[in-house]
Formats: sequence, C-alpha cells, structure tokens
Amino acid sequence: MDYKQELKNFFGDNCLLDEPMSRHTTYRTGGPVEAYVYPQTHEEWSFVLKIARTFNIPLHIIGFGSNILVGGKGMGGIVCSTKRLGSLSVEGDHIRAEAGCALDKVCEKACEAGLAGMEKLSGIPGTIGGAVYMNAGAFGQETFDTLEYFDVIDLEGRPATLLKQDLHYAYRHVEGIENYIILSASFALQKNDFTKLMETRNTILHKRIEKQPLEFPSAGSVFKRPPNDYASRLIDDTGLRGLSVGGAKVSEKHAGFIVNFNHATPEDIRTLMQEVRDKVKEKHGVELELEQILWGEFNV
Ligand SMILES: Cc1cc2nc3c(=O)[nH]c(=O)nc-3n(C[C@H](O)[C@H](O)[C@H](O)COP(=O)(O)OP(=O)(O)OC[C@H]3O[C@@H](n4cnc5c(N)ncnc54)[C@H](O)[C@@H]3O)c2cc1C
Repeated sequence: MDYKQELKNFFGDNCLLDEPMSRHTTYRTGGPVEAYVYPQTHEEWSFVLKIARTFNIPLHIIGFGSNILVGGKGMGGIVCSTKRLGSLSVEGDHIRAEAGCALDKVCEKACEAGLAGMEKLSGIPGTIGGAVYMNAGAFGQETFDTLEYFDVIDLEGRPATLLKQDLHYAYRHVEGIENYIILSASFALQKNDFTKLMETRNTILHKRIEKQPLEFPSAGSVFKRPPNDYASRLIDDTGLRGLSVGGAKVSEKHAGFIVNFNHATPEDIRTLMQEVRDKVKEKHGVELELEQILWGEFNV
C-alpha cells in the first residue's frame, strides 16, 4: 500500500489527499500537497511520524498558514495541521494554550482576565504554534517576552518540555525550533488593569486596520526588519509601492506587504519578492531577508 492510502485508512475524513494549499494559506494561492492531515492525539502524531520515517516522506506542520507561500507545482509529502488543537485555559496569572489556538484569541483572553504582556500581539493572524516558531511580535512585544515553556514532540515522536531560558532566540528566530512539533505553550503574565489592557488591545487592532491592507490576502510583512531600519521604508524609498507582477502587488497601503489583489499565482508573488530585493539592494545596498517561508516547487 502506498503511504497516502495508509494515511487515508488511518485518518479517514481527517486526511485530505492532493489538497490545494490555497485553502490553507492566507495568501490564498498555492499548489496541492500530497496529504493534508489533522493529527490530534498522541497516537495520531506517532502514526504520521512513523509513516514519514518509514516512507522517507517530508513532513511539515502548519498553523493558519499566515506566513507561508506554497509554490504552484505544490509539494510532496505530508502537511499536518494543528487547527484542531484549540484548548485554552487561564490559571492565576498563567495562560496555557494548545498549538492551534488563535494567538489573537489568547491575547483577548489575557486582556479579559486582566493579565498583561500579550496585548500588543493582538491581531496577529496566526496560531500559538506559529507564534512560538516565529517568535512573532509587534509594537515592541514578542511572543518570547512572556513565554514560559512549551510542550513538544520531536520528529521521532518523543515528548519534551522546552523552557524559554534553555533556548537561543532573537527577532523572528528561535534556534533549533525546526526539530520540534509544538503542541502547547504556557505564558507567565502580570496582573494589570482590565480596562487599560482592553484599551491597548483596541488601539492596536485599530492601528492594524488603519495601516495594513487587510482587505486583500497576504502573509504580512514579506521581509525582516534590517538593522536600524524598516523594510517598508526602504521599499517605499526605492519607489516600489504599487509595483505589480501578475496578480501580486506591493501594497499601496503598507509597502512591507505583498498582496494577492487579483488571483495571483505563487510565482507572481515570488517574482515580485525577488524584484523588490534586487531593486532595494541596487538603490540602498541592503540585502532584505525574507521573513515569509517558501514551501514546495515553483513553476518558474
Ligand atoms: C495581515 C497579517 C499581519 C501580520 N502581522 C504580523 C505581525 O505583526 N507580527 C508578526 O510577527 N507576524 C505577523 N504576520 C505573520 C504571521 O501571522 C506570523 O508569523 C504567525 O506567527 C504565523 O502563525 P501561523 O500559525 O499562521 O504559522 P504558519 O504560517 O502556519 O507557519 C509558520 C511557520 O511555523 C511553523 N509552525 C507552525 N505551527 C507549528 C507547530 N505547532 N509546531 C512546529 N512548527 C510550527 C510552520 O512549519 C512554519 O515554518 C502577519 C500576517 C498577516 C497575514
């Protein structure tokens, strides 16, 4: 039996074969993956990891796909979604959330409980797993600021708890994180005034609506912030605001975003990323580093 059939037999409706990744990424474009599964129990994770090992198949983990571009030719192997791991609890000044919980829901819950430290992460459209993996951040706050520890399994299926203090992390980077599947995370927050926190949260959400092109599919900032500068400032200063390739465009509202404004192919987006990098390099001598993650094969 081939590995796809084995997965289908085991996962039933929780396994989608030849599934278009356009349905699972916020860019709303991307070719198919061979198998898309929703493991939830320890047994299901062990099974999918065993299949990947036995058949020597690549395996990827996805949250809300809000930082990923998948090539038009699609991808071999398995994508495991954490979307159905969604429990969330508050105990004293700690919040514990499963990997598939929306980060924004955790921020809201923290504010409602009068707990400070995550309010500025409000509106980031990813999961807790994706936020830990990326050390997502905004307005001077980062996921690792309040993260205490997180529970993982490694690629052999062995469980472990990783403490923040044992890890090397930086801006949008956590060393060695790609060797783990994040199952849940625990945050240590500080008591604060509920009304004040809700006010900060609402201000942040309004700023996002005001400054970001949320009316179009995108995956947020394309590039990391270069030292002592902003990618959007460099892109803008190079005259690239509004530059388009096919259905992809450098947002007119926020030059750090590329938006899918008209049925963009992944190749349109990737070509535009490269044009922006080349032109910024030419004008400013700065090599912009991608923040977004590319998966699969591209047509060009
Ligand atoms: C409109 C918009 C605004 C944004 N604003 C911000 C912002 O202000 N700040 C910011 O930091 N980001 C921002 N982003 C980018 C994105 O939301 C974050 O990077 C987010 O943390 C990604 O979470 P996700 O669940 O979507 O991860 P995905 O995109 O699904 O995955 C990202 C990476 O994390 C890995 N991963 C995800 N879950 C797990 C897991 N459980 N275990 C192991 N690996 C995992 C994936 O394999 C992949 O490598 C924005 C995106 C959009 C579309």
